[in-house]
Amino acid sequence: MTTVVSRNSTVLDRAALIACGVRTGKTTSCAACAAKAEGFLRIADTGALDGLAAAICRSRVGGACQECTTKATEILRLVGVVR
Ligand SMILES: [Zn+2]
Ligand SMILES: [Zn+2]
Repeated sequence: MTTVVSRNSTVLDRAALIACGVRTGKTTSCAACAAKAEGFLRIADTGALDGLAAAICRSRVGGACQECTTKATEILRLVGVVR
């Protein structure tokens, strides 16, 4: 049921930046987050907020922190999954 949407690099960059942490004057994510952005978008496509938050919040097992849950919500909104 998953529609294959061609990702433009803008969406990918944006997702990477959200995951990395958006700050004023910061326009690009670090290389580590950029490398993972594709995976984040793949999870986002499933609509799994918890799974996405956990993937972003790699420091914790079994539950993401509030900050990463917020980031995950933003990425879901970015890909248009959020209700
Ligand atoms: Zn980063
Ligand atoms: Zn976190």
